[in-house]
Amino acid sequence: MGFDAIVIGAGHNGLTAANYLAMGGLSVCVLEQRHIVGGAAVSEEFHPGFRNSIASYLVSLLRNEVIEELRLEDYGYKVTVVESGFYPDSDGNYLLLDGDAAHNEAQISRFSDSDFASMEVFDEIVAKAGSVLSTQWLREPPKLHGGGLHDLVNSIKLGLDIRKLDSDDRWRFLQLLLGPPNTLIERWFESDKIKALIAARTTPGNYASLHQPGASLAMLHHAVGEVAGGKGDWGLVHGGMGAITQAMAASAQDKGVVIKTNASVKSVIIDEGRATGVRLEDGAELHAPIIVANTDPNRTFLKLVGAEHLPESFARDIEIFRQESASLRINLALSGLPDFACLPGTEIAQHHRSSIMIVESKDHVENAYQSARRGIPAAPPIIDALIPSTIDDTLTDEPGTHVMSLLCKYMPYDLADGKHWDNEKERVFEQILDYLQTLIPNIRDILVGYQCLTPLDLERMFGMTRGDISHGKLEPDQMFSVRPHPDAAQYATPIDGLYLCGSGAHPGGGVTGAPGRNAAKKILSQR
Ligand SMILES: Cc1cc2nc3c(=O)[nH]c(=O)nc-3n(C[C@H](O)[C@H](O)[C@H](O)COP(=O)(O)OP(=O)(O)OC[C@H]3O[C@@H](n4cnc5c(N)ncnc54)[C@H](O)[C@@H]3O)c2cc1C
Repeated sequence: MGFDAIVIGAGHNGLTAANYLAMGGLSVCVLEQRHIVGGAAVSEEFHPGFRNSIASYLVSLLRNEVIEELRLEDYGYKVTVVESGFYPDSDGNYLLLDGDAAHNEAQISRFSDSDFASMEVFDEIVAKAGSVLSTQWLREPPKLHGGGLHDLVNSIKLGLDIRKLDSDDRWRFLQLLLGPPNTLIERWFESDKIKALIAARTTPGNYASLHQPGASLAMLHHAVGEVAGGKGDWGLVHGGMGAITQAMAASAQDKGVVIKTNASVKSVIIDEGRATGVRLEDGAELHAPIIVANTDPNRTFLKLVGAEHLPESFARDIEIFRQESASLRINLALSGLPDFACLPGTEIAQHHRSSIMIVESKDHVENAYQSARRGIPAAPPIIDALIPSTIDDTLTDEPGTHVMSLLCKYMPYDLADGKHWDNEKERVFEQILDYLQTLIPNIRDILVGYQCLTPLDLERMFGMTRGDISHGKLEPDQMFSVRPHPDAAQYATPIDGLYLCGSGAHPGGGVTGAPGRNAAKKILSQR
């Protein structure tokens, strides 16, 4: 059977693109290397009786347009807002922040007289800047040079969005886009506790020093979302992140999209400079005039296409496109509830149902980064955690049992002294557990199983080059009209018929659906 379009990869963006292409009247086939669709938005049983979102675990950035247009709620998508943030440290201090301003003021005043007020101002700056960024997400970024009326219109729209900010907001917007996090931290906050918390906010999806210009952008990128109308909120998807991609797949199949799992693409077939099909690892070939890559830029251009088919300068630029995020992901299967030293108790309480950030200080963030840059896994890492089973009781078979998600930063892809992750994984896991035990004394007693995914495992499992969870660093010279390259930032590529639809294209990483939707719209507009 012939198809109008083949999508390589059934990550959430590949599935999103497939849906919109089918809505545009195209016959579409999606090829996924794994046994299951979803890419990094997937739910799996990682230990008998224990299921979890094994990679990404919270939703906020997924565009409402995608949720509505693909009718994801009709296919089972349901989200609960995570209403509070819990910030314990090994000194026995903690902060527990929620939507109640008076409560938050009381919490923060234990550490500083001024940081609560500063936090309110800072959050507003981030929200305003985020709203400018967010309106760009579903627009094709304008071409850097040349381009047509469409690019001109999008440039004017961007200009108008920025003009809506007053002059002080514009300056703050630039600081967030281009400045180092440390400048913002020192400008706004006085207490070590709040400085630590803001420093840690820069770590998801990012791998940069607090002193690096441009490293604040990752924090902004993660602040532009919303859940159920709550701007900046994050939510837990019922059944895990896989419920999003299962809903996307079902929605696509109802539109006639064919999805093949265990179908690993070995190469894109190029005929006289045009993509005409794909060759699978098992030797089979499928042909279509449109090939849409959900794979990251490095994998797409250098492995599936091959530098020999690309303009030399373009291939060289893709080689140096920075893909790394130094993330290690752990899923814990627990026979009971973590009992935090700073807030003891094994009955489910607000702090268990919070998003949990374990960070000791601002220096902890910087030292963790510097350690990873030397090839040494941060000890201790910065840990983003969640106990999703306290909100969603479908994740474990036995009542009273729990799953816990840990995203540990910074963990380098390349280890020092020729060490290999397959030999180091267990040692690093035990080291992390030792650290956790200082905050959660019962953690080893309740541990019944675990899954530890190193940066190398993330690469092997999901095809994310160097384990980069965003398919490319979220830094200013890799964003917007140059992501991943000026000649591929509008989803079309130097190879006719080949398009990008994954997180390596605008607007970047996270479970957003934006690159998938934008790419499909581009393809349909060119027919
Ligand atoms: C550990 C971790 C934690 C994260 N936490 C969050 C979070 O909490 N919230 C959030 O919003 N974002 C989070 N992210 C980021 C987010 O999950 C990703 O940026 C996003 O899911 C990427 O989606 P994608 O569709 O662009 O690509 P992917 O999800 O990477 O999908 C690409 C697909 O292509 C397939 N593929 C690769 N090579 C081939 C091939 N040769 N042939 C066929 N198929 C192939 C892969 O198997 C995969 O299914 C996290 C990511 C990770 C890894």
